[in-house]
Amino acid sequence: MTLDVLSLAAPGVRTLQPYVPGKPLEELERQYGVQNAIKLASNENPLGPSPLALAAARAALPDIARYPDGGGFALKRALSARLGVDTGQITLGNGSSDVIEFAARIFLAPGDEAVFSQHAFAMYRIITQAIGGRCVEVPARDWGHDLDAMARAVTAHTRLVFITNPNNPTGTWFGRAALRAFLERVPTRVLVVLDEAYFEYADDPDYPDGIALLNEFPNLIVARTFSKVYGLAGLRVGYSLSSAALADLLNRVRPPFNVNSLALAAAEAALADDEHLRKTVQLNRDGMHQLADGFRGLGLAHIPSAGNFVCVEVGDAARVYEQLLRRGVIVRPVANYGMPRHLRVTVGLPEENRRFLEALQAALQS
Ligand code: PMP
Repeated sequence: MTLDVLSLAAPGVRTLQPYVPGKPLEELERQYGVQNAIKLASNENPLGPSPLALAAARAALPDIARYPDGGGFALKRALSARLGVDTGQITLGNGSSDVIEFAARIFLAPGDEAVFSQHAFAMYRIITQAIGGRCVEVPARDWGHDLDAMARAVTAHTRLVFITNPNNPTGTWFGRAALRAFLERVPTRVLVVLDEAYFEYADDPDYPDGIALLNEFPNLIVARTFSKVYGLAGLRVGYSLSSAALADLLNRVRPPFNVNSLALAAAEAALADDEHLRKTVQLNRDGMHQLADGFRGLGLAHIPSAGNFVCVEVGDAARVYEQLLRRGVIVRPVANYGMPRHLRVTVGLPEENRRFLEALQAALQS
């Protein structure tokens, strides 16, 4: 007997489209028989993690028969010292997507509305729908968040707003005054999740630090991650900062031991390596120029980005993506983000950027 499990699933889950990650290198090599392929598809740090983080993970390895510290004491203490927040304001996650999901779960009940922008990170829709919430997607302006329109989209049914700065996949960002004006307009009964996964890359003097606003806006949760600039995507560790009262709620839905012991150790050590952070940000800045120059040379438009990735307009992106795969270069198609003419490429090492630009030129001519 076959069971129609689909009809048994919660209504929001039945229509869900699963998150599509970047293609793994091994899969490309298996499918296309390409050697030495490069992956610029998941906004990972091309330098890898800090050597201090690697050493700390190695040192923690013999103890993996034991459960990790469920409270994450040492990592929270290090984050607290670094960010100037109390440890009670920190919630640790299995990646920042974990804490973003906790935020949705503590505020959204079936039928409640969550507001987010067009072209925003795909997980907001997945999380909202899975809970049975209603997604309110607000049209973007110039590829970025239209914060005025998002504030207007808040209704009596809204419990949650997701904003992302800079946004993935577009790389667009908003400044201090725009963020403050937005937070002032959103009623405090609505939770605002400010996703700052790419915070460390944004270097414009007007780029705001969400943490500075926590005292003023008790409905604000700031999410950050060790997956990007810290190069620990494979270990899965992120965190949120909020009022202690919100952190207490987040901890009620957090599974015990959601951050593993290697991740805790590596993240704590990574925080202490300022030099690796500086190198990573500098490499990204140079690589972004290299890519922008390359796009100009090819006559392609791109969306200026404050992250470690950039969207370039290539026309028939599905075709160009396929042509790039054949040449051993994995980037990210973003048609599922409503951007069928763009590809998102992560800034890589200079040599990787060069290979990508060469392959792009060939792909466009093929
Ligand atoms: N937010 C944004 C905007 C992202 O781009 C990502 C990663 N793609 C995440 C959150 C989640 O990252 P992680 O769970 O690895 O911290």
